[in-house]
This record gives sequence, C-alpha cells and structure tokens, in this order.
Amino acid sequence: MSQTAFSSLDLHADLLKNVASLGYETMTPIQAQSLPPILADKDVIAQGKTGSGKTAAFALGLLQKLEAKDFRVQSLVLCPTRELADQVAKEIRKLARTIQNIKVLTLCGGMPFGPQTGSLESGVHIVVGTPGRIEEHLRKTTLKLDSLTTLVLDEADRMLEMGFQPALDTIIEHTPKQRQTLLFSATFPAQIKSIAERIMNDPVMAKVTSTHDENIIEQHFYKVDDDEQRLITLRLLLLKHRPESTVVFCNTKREVQEIADQLSADGFSVLALHGDLEQKDRDMTLVRFANKSASVLVATDVAARGLDIDALDLVINYHIARDTEVHVHRIGRTGRAGSKGIACSLYSDKEHYKVALLGDYLDKIIESEKLPPLSLLNESPGKPKVATIQIDGGKKQKVRPGDILGALTGKNGITGKQVGKIHIFDNRAYVAISQDVIKPALKKLTAGKIKGRSFRARLIS
Ligand code: AMP
Repeated sequence: MSQTAFSSLDLHADLLKNVASLGYETMTPIQAQSLPPILADKDVIAQGKTGSGKTAAFALGLLQKLEAKDFRVQSLVLCPTRELADQVAKEIRKLARTIQNIKVLTLCGGMPFGPQTGSLESGVHIVVGTPGRIEEHLRKTTLKLDSLTTLVLDEADRMLEMGFQPALDTIIEHTPKQRQTLLFSATFPAQIKSIAERIMNDPVMAKVTSTHDENIIEQHFYKVDDDEQRLITLRLLLLKHRPESTVVFCNTKREVQEIADQLSADGFSVLALHGDLEQKDRDMTLVRFANKSASVLVATDVAARGLDIDALDLVINYHIARDTEVHVHRIGRTGRAGSKGIACSLYSDKEHYKVALLGDYLDKIIESEKLPPLSLLNESPGKPKVATIQIDGGKKQKVRPGDILGALTGKNGITGKQVGKIHIFDNRAYVAISQDVIKPALKKLTAGKIKGRSFRARLIS
C-alpha cells in the first residue's frame, strides 16, 4: 500500500469512501505529513498554504473524532477572514456528507448576530469562524466550548498579522486544557513560535519544503555587460512579468537605495528595505509591500529576513548571491501554491564563477537567456490597485480590524471589497484601499469615529 494512499490511514470506512468519491486519489504532501499525527490525537504544527490540501488534513482529523450524537461544540476552527471561514466550512461539509446529521456553523463578523445565536441553540458539532465574532459569542455566553476536543488555528500568521492575538488568547482561555490543538500557517514568525509554545502540548512539526523544487520555481539567468545594462535588464524583466509582488535582492545597502531611487524615477511603485531604516519606517515599508500598495521591494538579504511573505510572483537577484545557500533561500520565496514561481538572476563576467557553482549545485549547465525586447521600455510600469491609509490609532487605543472596516463601510461608505489588508501596531494602523475610492475613504475615516474617537488618517505615498 502506498504511503500516500488515504487507505494507509486508520480512517473510518465512510470517510475513506467519501474521500474516494470526491476524487482525492492520493494524499497531498501536507496531508501525508500531518494526518498520521493528527489521527493519533497529537498536537500538530503544519506549514500549509491555501491550495495545499490543508483543510482536508484537519477536517478529516476532527471528523474522525466527532461524536455525532453529542450536539455540543466539539471542534472550533479559527480563520482570519470570512471568505476563508466559508471555504473551510464548505470543505468540511463536503467531507462530512457520509456522516448523518453533522452540523457545521460559520460564525463571522459582518453578519447579523441573532440568527447565529439561534443556530447555536439548536446544537452544533463544528464551529468555523473569525476570532472577533467568536470572542463576542463567548462573552455573551451564546457559545460554550466546555466540550471542545479539537481547536484549529488556520492561517495563524494572518490572524496575528490582523491583530487577533488578544481575541485568540481570550478564546483559548474558554477551551478545556485537555484538547487537541492544530496550527496551520504559511510562515513562522517569532510570534507564532511563542503562541505555539504557550498553547500546544509537545507538537509534531509537519513541514513541506519546496525550496529546491525545480518544478515549482522556474529559474532564468541573464548575462549583462555592465551596470547600465544591468539596470535596463531589471526594468525589462519587471515590464515583461508585471508582477504584483516582487523582491529585488541586492548585496549592499547602498545599492538597494540606488536601485530603488532609479526605479522610482522610472515610474515603478517601489520601496527600499535595508538595515538603516528606523523600526517605524521598516514596519511601514513591510506593510505597504504586504498589502500590495507597492509592487517592487528592493532589499538586502539581512533586511528581507523579517519578510513574512513567501508567495512572491517574482524574485530578481540583481547580483548573484554571495553563496548558494543564500541564493536558494532567496528564490524559495517565490511560487504561489499551485502555480510556478519565477526567479531571475543577473550576472556579469566577474560573477561567472558563482554561476558555475550554482550550476554544480543545481546539477545543470546554466546558460544566459536572451534579454526581453528593448521596446518594452516604452511601456508604462502601471500603478498598484490599492494604496495605504495610515490611521493614528492602534492596539493601545483598542482599535481592531473590525472597527476600521466598520468605520469605512458604514452609511455613505465604501464597500468591503474595496478594503484590503489591515495591519494594526501599538499606536497606528494601516489599511489598504482601492485607488479609486481613496478620497471617500479618507473622508469617511476623518469625519466619522472609530471606537467613539476621532483619529487622524492620511494617505501614505
Ligand atoms: P486547501 O488547500 O485546503 O484550500 O485545498 C485546495 C483544494 O484541493 C480543495 O478544493 C480540496 O477540495 C482539494 N483537495 C484537498 N485534498 C486533496 C487531495 N488529496 N487530492 C485532490 N484534491 C484535494
């Protein structure tokens, strides 16, 4: 029996049959790594992006344990957004369709409260929701978690990024100590490690690395004659690929600033990230890049270490990295789940030996490709779809993502779809807004109130 066949698992026969009827032939890597410990009732930390099959991994775990006759909440899945919660609930319902009478309920902000309470009263096995609303139900005692056996944190990094840590802490306090905790995250910043240490019991790590996978990352190499041609090649590659998010790696701070200034002069929406930035500017740069109000980030390796984005469309090595390991690490940041990432490396004669070393490592002969046509230089680099508004209120003023969303979308406001990522810091918050509604958004924020207070808001450019 293959190790990746679902039948190699100790799953209930009806679940196995259903998995087969859904056309899931073999386990995805994340499922193969995480399902055995999940089914053994262990706490598991898994690295899984959307598209990896992570939902089925935890869903099968909680369905296997479920007591269908007990209509108290036995599993809680926390998600950063309503969209993800809806998607997760849908997948759980699909996997549960062969078990009689399983109730899955989504509890998310932005939806009326009353009907949610009504559904809870009639008995629910599995709750999927966003932290703010779940916390509210716990506070109002409309939701009880005394019988919880499995807690899932899905996209934990995004939940923390959105300022949900206090809500998560409160929710966890309401759950029994004896429970299984599963944590899924695309990235592992220090905050995730610390939360895992606090709330998990001897967790098993299920990590699927794809850094070296040639099938996922497409590498291109371009030989340039001098610095002038290097810069032109960079512009050509950006104009050819038109990435939503790309990092250009440089080997020195000075070069980072020079290249960023030059690209900016050429009309690109670009940010520079290097060790000389103050913490506040660094945070702002990372936020603007993460929320897609700038499409190009020029960075040194050291400065990019804190970058929690590992799904870039394109990575460009302006110079070949010092050594092979750094190169592999750089390019490992590209590649969205399910689609290929692209890495382009520029090198001159002087760097030829580094290219040869890389060729040895990758076990192939690296040859320079033809540069994209120069006519591309006549095209406009285009503008990102969103821009960032800074609000001078944050965690210390108890400003939460839902408050900002509420202030923006109320009467005469903009729609939820026009609001992008929200990042909250101690005394500031940043929100991405569609370019075409910046003015009304600013007006709504400055004229109205957040948490009963007026905060200053301004566009960052
Ligand atoms: P997720 O990463 O959980 O969002 O899942 C991505 C998609 O893959 C969903 O549409 C699932 O229905 C599907 N899927 C999950 N596991 C498997 C599998 N083992 N084989 C084929 N498709 C799967």
